[in-house]
Amino acid sequence: MATQAPILADQDQIALYEPVIGLEVHVQLGTNTKIFCSCPNEFGAAPNTNVCPVCLGMPGALPVLNEHAVELAVQASLALHCEVRNRSIFARKNSFYPDLPPGYQISQYDPPVAEHGWVDIQLPSGETKRIGVTRLHMEDDAGKSTHDGYRDSSQYSYVDLNRTGSPLAEIVSEPDMRSSDEAFQYLTELKLAMQFTGVSNCDMEKGNLRCDANVSVRRKGAEKFGTKVEIKNLNSFRFLKQAIDFEIARQVGVLEAGGTIVQETRLYNPDLDETFSMRSKEMAHDYRYFPEPDLVPLEISDDWLAKVKAAMGELPADMRKRFVDEQGLREYDAQVLTATRALADYYEQTAKACGDPKAAANWVTGDLAALLKAAGKEIEDSPVSPQGLGELLGLIASGELTGKLAKEILPKMFSTGDAARAIMEREGLKAMSDTGELEKIIEGIIAANPKQVEQYKGGKTSVIQFFVGQAMKATRGQANPAAVGEILKQKLG
Ligand SMILES: [Zn+2]
Repeated sequence: MATQAPILADQDQIALYEPVIGLEVHVQLGTNTKIFCSCPNEFGAAPNTNVCPVCLGMPGALPVLNEHAVELAVQASLALHCEVRNRSIFARKNSFYPDLPPGYQISQYDPPVAEHGWVDIQLPSGETKRIGVTRLHMEDDAGKSTHDGYRDSSQYSYVDLNRTGSPLAEIVSEPDMRSSDEAFQYLTELKLAMQFTGVSNCDMEKGNLRCDANVSVRRKGAEKFGTKVEIKNLNSFRFLKQAIDFEIARQVGVLEAGGTIVQETRLYNPDLDETFSMRSKEMAHDYRYFPEPDLVPLEISDDWLAKVKAAMGELPADMRKRFVDEQGLREYDAQVLTATRALADYYEQTAKACGDPKAAANWVTGDLAALLKAAGKEIEDSPVSPQGLGELLGLIASGELTGKLAKEILPKMFSTGDAARAIMEREGLKAMSDTGELEKIIEGIIAANPKQVEQYKGGKTSVIQFFVGQAMKATRGQANPAAVGEILKQKLG
């Protein structure tokens, strides 16, 4: 589509305006089967093999709602602090696409399964900002048209209907975000909550998390929102941020040049780093929503809801707060450790086993994470159990091991599955507890380095690090650095 290059506003002009951003996020629910039939809900099968009369929308084939999909949608709602409605209905959303054989999606219009939620995000200032979640509704996914990648792609498009009927939760935010960074943060928190609760793996490469952004700008101080533009199919966090920033500069550029914003749907081209018009309001769809005649209303009892709630456990944001407030972790570590429930559980069990949350956090996010990454393993498959790591950390705390020795032992635990103490004894990797022997070694080092001794005595006390390093080297890391420091201070006067 050939269009004139837009005139982008400069930073001074942009500073006069306030962007207003809302996101619509589609999350694919991690069920085994599709939302209204028993076809597998899986990615990567041969094209058009996971289909049946129901998901193909053949006349007479009746949809049956998948209870697990409802359960996951409700968990998603609770994770976003939404009120779950006791009664909601499904509706047909009519449109025509080659990859939508029934001619409609089964969605929820009014009322949706859940509404009035929120997500807290961290601002760069350290403050917390609450972003409203307007609604969450369930719907089925469409198929996929492939326009390139085949020999005859110049003449044909291909349609794969495996995805038709996969369960989705659409999450609509309030227009509460004021920058691309805030949108980025919101999507990050939302993704984390979905992954943590096991609602979805949110794998963006497989299209399991998709995002549309509504963007408008208004003069600072103005109350009325500007005309909004929808940017569709932002399939990475980076593109979301870039597309919003481009759109803000474009809209301010149009307004500053005396123009008006056209309400339209745009797409983002990452190669050009710009958005372009897909369709204007005049061409916008009238979906002609009407209640789905083949499905009864979705009734959720308080008992069932309570059961789902109880099975969910603690939410990541609450857990993060507890790790910081009660266990003294840094905000960053708490964030890393709550990326998945499995990782958070591993950390908590390690901390319990060794009694030192900070040490547990350091080792889980540091040495253990590095070993897992190198082996291409997830925390669930760690050959070292939380109890095993806890024992290792306990040996450091009791002085039987130095940190340096423990760093040698952990990879051996990882590769052999043996316990820390067994490796320590087998390889003679004990911390040196004989201070007499250590004193002798240190005396030797002092005698061999008269220049450094002179420097130290002349007031350059940082030289002590040199001596500690020499002592650690001479003892192959078996000396306790604190004990070495003590003896050195004593001997050097
Ligand atoms: Zn099917």
